[in-house]
Amino acid sequence: MDASSLGSDLGGPDTGNAAPGSAVATPSASGRALAADRPRQADLDRCVHCGLCLNACPTYRELGVEMDSPRGRIYQMAQVAAGAPIGDAYREHIDLCLACRGCESACPSGVQYGRLVEAARAEIEAVTRRPWLSQKLRDFIFGRLLQSPTLMTMAGACLYMYEVSGLQKLLRATGLVALLGPLAGKEALLPEPQIPFFFGEIGKTFPAEGERRYRVAFMAGCVANVAFARLNEATVRVLRKNGCEVVIPARQSCCGALHVHAGIRDEARKLARRNIDAVLGSTGECGFDAIITNAAGCGSTLKEYDELLEHDADYADRAKQFKALMRDVTEFLATLDRRGEMNRRMGRLETTVTYQDSCHLAHGQKERAAPRALLQAIPGVEFREMPLADICCGSAGIYNVLHTGLAMQILEKKMGNVKLTKAATVATANPGCMLQLQAGVRKWGKGERVAHVVELLDEAYRAAAD
Ligand code: SF4
Ligand code: SF4
Repeated sequence: MDASSLGSDLGGPDTGNAAPGSAVATPSASGRALAADRPRQADLDRCVHCGLCLNACPTYRELGVEMDSPRGRIYQMAQVAAGAPIGDAYREHIDLCLACRGCESACPSGVQYGRLVEAARAEIEAVTRRPWLSQKLRDFIFGRLLQSPTLMTMAGACLYMYEVSGLQKLLRATGLVALLGPLAGKEALLPEPQIPFFFGEIGKTFPAEGERRYRVAFMAGCVANVAFARLNEATVRVLRKNGCEVVIPARQSCCGALHVHAGIRDEARKLARRNIDAVLGSTGECGFDAIITNAAGCGSTLKEYDELLEHDADYADRAKQFKALMRDVTEFLATLDRRGEMNRRMGRLETTVTYQDSCHLAHGQKERAAPRALLQAIPGVEFREMPLADICCGSAGIYNVLHTGLAMQILEKKMGNVKLTKAATVATANPGCMLQLQAGVRKWGKGERVAHVVELLDEAYRAAAD
């Protein structure tokens, strides 16, 4: 398998390497789509083709191609729904979508584009055959690696050795990294493993500082346990500072967001059931006031477990209960602030901060105010809004790994807007965006720091304690 095929192997439909005739193929072994796992006619019919979403679409802004715009993609989905075959061109246009849902916010007709594109990918997945090795690699990553703390720990340890041994520095400094060919761009996006990994904290309960006012469950993620272990720790500290007893449910798993984005919905359903059992138990009497995530991309999927499991008689009710309790950490803290319950005893952070909206927080969960309010609550922070803050940075789950060239084009524009603010720190609310922005700073930045909103809050609390 060559390097350039890696992207399509992992995430999107395999166009370049597909077996002849697979463009209009029979259902694959990976499963047929449920009737629900294809774009719903009612959702398609909501689009009136006005085009008001075009300017909000990063791929249309870059490529200027109607078929790579929301309107164009919906048009193609409607053609397939009317009986057109699923061909390579359709796969590519759907695959190139970031699923950032910027179009959803721009649409005056209330088109649920996120739901449409996820269903379109599930439908494509159900009829796609891949070469044996590609399918095995994809099955391993989505079916095993992301779901296994042991495998994730091993992968993190290998990555850690690559970095601390000096090999990474050597390859980058000498330019030998270019020998990796198309993988060189992907190498720049590798996360830095953070020892100790957060897996050791799973199953523990952390008491509230002072009076306990809330009892919350924390979803620690999958890759985040390796690459964002310090962010997870900071999240627990900030919640405790705000009167929360924080439980990290023992049998929690990857949330399934990457699976949903890749159209692997049956596997996502398995993970959703596992997380519902881990947090709510079999009766639903969990005693939690909220379920918290610090990853906006995961949060969107966790809040849509009810849609994933709507036809599952055993889980549909608990999925609704799960959704009702689910909160992004910034959303939860800003609610406390509005109620006058937030701990405002923070030290000063003398810095200028701009904020990059995480698409799945702004467009998926419709939450823009909370992270901004929290940043502005930190003493000493000078907040600077950047132009087009709610346009995707190009991260989009693993999109930047699958479509590195286009993701970097989008990122370069984003960094131009970051620099216009002259802010020293770029804050965001999603680990995936942090990785992408860090790559942007390395390539086009002026030494800006990239931080999660919660990390800045944590620092402010610590500064007060010093
Ligand atoms: S998705 Fe919405 S904004 Fe875009 S063309 Fe359709 S109706 Fe218009
Ligand atoms: S989800 Fe994002 S990339 Fe996809 S069509 Fe909508 S705005 Fe464009």
